[in-house]
Amino acid sequence: MPRLVILGSASAVADANHENTHMILQGAHSAILIDCTGRPVVDLQRIGIGLDILSDLILTHFHPDHVAAVPNLLMSAWLLGRSATLRIYGLHHCLERMEDMMAAYHWEEWPGFFPVAFHHLPEREGVAVLENEDFQIKASPVRHYVPTIGLRILVKETGFVLVYSSDTVPCPEMVRLAYGADLLIHEATGDEPLGHASAVQAGEIAAEAGVKRLGLIHYHVWNANTEHLVPQAQSTFSGPVFLCEDFMQIELTQGA
Ligand SMILES: [Zn+2]
Repeated sequence: MPRLVILGSASAVADANHENTHMILQGAHSAILIDCTGRPVVDLQRIGIGLDILSDLILTHFHPDHVAAVPNLLMSAWLLGRSATLRIYGLHHCLERMEDMMAAYHWEEWPGFFPVAFHHLPEREGVAVLENEDFQIKASPVRHYVPTIGLRILVKETGFVLVYSSDTVPCPEMVRLAYGADLLIHEATGDEPLGHASAVQAGEIAAEAGVKRLGLIHYHVWNANTEHLVPQAQSTFSGPVFLCEDFMQIELTQGA
C-alpha cells in the first residue's frame, strides 16, 4: 500500500522527539524523499526503506531545517556503494546553493561517486516535477522568505491526492494547489512575524480548498505546548484534523 512516513514534524528548532520537517513517499516501485534534514540514512533504515530504493529527492526551499542533511545523505549513499543516479528537484534558487554546498565538500573528488541529476523547476504554478509508476507530482510556488514550492501528489494506484504546503503564509496559490485534496499537510508554525501560517490559518486554507482531511506539521516544539494546535485548526475547518508526529505512517488510500 502506498504510504507517507513523516520523518520530522518540528519547525526550525527540533527537539529530542521531533526532527525538522521532512517526509518520505513510498510506492510499490519507488521511494521519494521530500526535504532532507536530521539523519535520513538512520531514519530510512528504521522504517525499512533501503537507500538503493531511494530514487528521487525533492527540496522545497534552501533553509537549513529543510536541506541541511543532503551532503550527509549523498556521502552515506556513496560509501554504501550506490551506483544508480539520484534525481534532485527544486527551484533554481535552492539547487544552485545546493551545488555550491557540495562544491565546498569537493564532491567532484569523491572517487566513484554515483551520478546526481539536478532538475531545476521553473517557478510557476502547477509545474510538473516528476512522474513514475507510482506517483505524479506537481509543484506551485508558495510565499516564504525565500523561493519555496508546495507539492501536489497523485497516488496512481489509489487515486489519492496528497498536498504538502512546505513553509508559507496563507496565499491563493496554496488554496489552488490544495483544491479538493484527500489530505492537506500544512505548516502551523504560528507566531512568526513573516513567512509562516498558524493552525487557525491552516484550517482556513483547508476549508477554502475543500480538502477532506488536514494534518498539521512544522510546529513549534521547543518547550512548547502543542495541545492547542488541533482545536485551533478545528475552529476554522470542519473536517478531520490531526497533528503530524515523527514516524507517523499515513496510508495513501481513499477512506484510510
Ligand atoms: Zn522550515
